[in-house]
Amino acid sequence: MSIELQKITKSYDTNLVLEDISVRIETGEFFAIVGPSGCGKSTLLRMIAGLIPISAGVLKIDEEIVNQLPPQDRKLTMVFQNYALFPFLNVAENVAFGLKARRLAKNEVAQRVKQALELVNLSDFAKRKPRELSGGQRQRVALARAIASDAKVCLMDEPLSNLDAQLRGKMRSEIRELQQQLGLTLIYVTHDQVEAMTMADRIMVLHDQHVQQIGSPVQIYQHPQNTFVADFFGTPRINFLTVQHAVSNQLAVDLFLKFELQTKLPAGTYQIGVRPGDLVVDFNQPQTNATVRNLEYLGTQSVIHAQLDHGEEVRITVAGQLTVGVNQRMLVTAKPNFIVFDQHQQAVLFAQGGKQDGTNQIQQLQQA
Ligand code: ADP
Ligand code: MG
Repeated sequence: MSIELQKITKSYDTNLVLEDISVRIETGEFFAIVGPSGCGKSTLLRMIAGLIPISAGVLKIDEEIVNQLPPQDRKLTMVFQNYALFPFLNVAENVAFGLKARRLAKNEVAQRVKQALELVNLSDFAKRKPRELSGGQRQRVALARAIASDAKVCLMDEPLSNLDAQLRGKMRSEIRELQQQLGLTLIYVTHDQVEAMTMADRIMVLHDQHVQQIGSPVQIYQHPQNTFVADFFGTPRINFLTVQHAVSNQLAVDLFLKFELQTKLPAGTYQIGVRPGDLVVDFNQPQTNATVRNLEYLGTQSVIHAQLDHGEEVRITVAGQLTVGVNQRMLVTAKPNFIVFDQHQQAVLFAQGGKQDGTNQIQQLQQA
């Protein structure tokens, strides 16, 4: 089942929360909606589910306008952050609840419950009450309930945010596997960029009432269309550097930290976005331009928090462990991987290795 949003807008009284949200989500797609807390993710999901009215725009399910259709007729199922299980019903009864309400035959209900519990590895827990389960198991019951409903579209609102980090990682791959196995169209809301990057086929980034970008995880990471998207994805976060001198085909942050361009940019104010892994440090040079302020050892890599001599702070990742200490002087240069943003925070140029593209070209590529 495909879901199409055409210029969906939502206001609560006079407060505009979402404006002109448009996207077409295809059958079998894992589609993530990502953005900071309060950007309207739950609001958007609830409009799709039919739980709250749409202020303006058109919502289509399988090419049919459903703006006025009540939730139970939309053939969707929803999984919430707080699981929404009935405490007085056992696991099997919780999973069966929606099916019984739909007056399915008794053996059909039993069959679906059995299959759903097998899929989420909870067959042995059918008779337990929710309070006798761990957080992860409760979330699996909620998943089983969604699976048993046999709806082809599943909406999930931050389903893993109440779990600890380790379990979250495990559930991520479980949900992804189930989605693939069942061919579900899954619309998944999260504020966690890592979840979106690792699980989704496509991501929609919401901020400031608007869609910031829609694309695959690779497109979003390599070709962020503006500074918000560039900043939101990636750990440690991308560095933004102020260009001090723009001379012909070069943008210079200082005497040593320079970014070569293959084309000339129009005169203007620019910012460079450079990922922490694309800055290079050298502790053995006579000339230096930065000082180590702090070090984080993360196992396979270390993060250097450094201060450039002209004032800006940068994050730099290097492989392995470092023997240098705080206040160590060093030379910071850059690999030819960077993004140039204009004064409106829009990306105007992407450089990757030897290749450079303007955003216009990239937009054409994405439309083709
Ligand atoms: P998110 O899920 O991205 O954290 P929400 O969709 O919950 O964001 O909320 C988006 C905005 O809409 C917030 O500013 C929130 O305060 C506001 N909002 C949400 N629900 C209501 C409501 N029922 N009445 C008025 N304002 C609301
Ligand atoms: Mg929310």
